[in-house]
Amino acid sequence: VIPPARPPGVYLDHAATTPLRDEVARSMVEVLSLLGNPSSVHFHGRSARAVVEEARASVARSAGVSADRVVFTSGATEANGTALRGFPDLPLLVSAIEHDSVLVHAGARVPVDRRGLIDLDALGERLVALGRPALVSVMIVNNETGVIQPIPVIAKLVHEAGGLLHVDAAQAPGRVSFTMDGLGADLLTLSAHKIGGPTGVGALVLGDGIEPKPLIAGGGQQRGRRAGTENVVGVVGFGRAAGLVDPAEDARLVPLREGLEARLRALWNDVLILGADAPRVGAIVSFAAPEARAETAVVAMDLAGFSIGAGSACSSGRVRPSHVASAMGLDDEAAARVIRVSLGRTTTIEEVERFAETFIAWARRTRGGARR
Ligand code: PMP
Repeated sequence: VIPPARPPGVYLDHAATTPLRDEVARSMVEVLSLLGNPSSVHFHGRSARAVVEEARASVARSAGVSADRVVFTSGATEANGTALRGFPDLPLLVSAIEHDSVLVHAGARVPVDRRGLIDLDALGERLVALGRPALVSVMIVNNETGVIQPIPVIAKLVHEAGGLLHVDAAQAPGRVSFTMDGLGADLLTLSAHKIGGPTGVGALVLGDGIEPKPLIAGGGQQRGRRAGTENVVGVVGFGRAAGLVDPAEDARLVPLREGLEARLRALWNDVLILGADAPRVGAIVSFAAPEARAETAVVAMDLAGFSIGAGSACSSGRVRPSHVASAMGLDDEAAARVIRVSLGRTTTIEEVERFAETFIAWARRTRGGARR
C-alpha cells in the first residue's frame, strides 16, 4: 500500500532524508523511459550518456571540481566504503562520531571533546605515532548533532603527515559552503537524498591523481572506478538536485532552531543540547529528552503527528545509545534519551512552534506521571 504523497503531519527528520524536490521529480520522469545503455556507442546509448554526463557536470560544479573527478555510487554508504577500502596499504584513522558506514571499516578512532569537535591534539599524536602516512576520515556536518568540524585545519595536519583525507559531506550541502579545494579533501562523499534528490544514488569525488581501488569491479563503466550500468534516472535526479542547492537555506533555519532551543531551556534550564558550544548548522538539533527514552518520545511525537529522529540506533531489535552522544561524554542513560529534530527547505516557523508546544506538553505530562 502506498501512503499518501503528502501525509498530514509535520516532517522534522530532514537529516534522515529530505523531501524530493518537484523539479527533481520532473527531471526524473522525463528520462524514465529514455532508452539506451550509456556505454553503448549508438544513438540510443549516446542519448543516455549525454544525460548522465550532464548530471556528472552538475554534481562536480557543486563540489568545485571537474566532471572527471565524480564517481557515481549507490549512495553515501558505498562512497564511504569505496574511499575507506580503496587504499588497503594505508592505516585508517576515523573520528569517533562518524556515520556507521565509516566506522564499520574499523579504523582507529580519534576522540572528540564534549562539544563534539575532533581532538586535534589526539589526531596529531596518532599521526606521529603511526610514523607513516594514513587515510583519515572526518565528516563536515555531523548527522546527529549538526556540529561542523574544522576540515581545512584537519586537512593540513593530515597532509603534513603525508596522509590522505576523506570527508563525508553527506549532510553538508545547503548547510555549509564548501569546495573540494577549500576543504583540502582528497576524497569527498555526497548523497542525493539529503539534498532533495532520490535515495539510492550518491557520489565519491576524487582529488587530482587519487584513485581508490574499486569496490565494485566488473564492466569498465566510470573509467573502471565503479562497475555497473549507471543509475540513469537516479543520477539525473541527483544532478538536478545538486544544481538547486541553496547555500542560504541554513541561515533561514538558525532562528527556528534557536527558538526551539529557547523554549526547551525555558522549561528545563539544564536541558542537554548536544554540541551547544560548538559551531553548528541551523538544520539539526539533538537533545536529551527529560525523563523518557528516545524511542518513547519518538513514538509519542509520531502519534501527535510529528516525525522526528532518535539519536539512538536500532540494531537487531535492540536500541543502543547513540555512539555520537557516548563519544561526547554522555553516560548510557543520558545517551538513550537523545532525540533529533532536523529542519529543512520545507520547514516553517509555525511547524517548529507547534512541535515545541506539543513536545513540551507531552514531556510535562510524562514527568507528572513519573512523579505520581
Ligand atoms: N553519512 C552520513 C553523514 C549520513 O548522514 C548518511 C545518511 N544517514 C550516510 C552517510 C549514508 O547515506 P546513504 O543513505 O546515501 O547511504
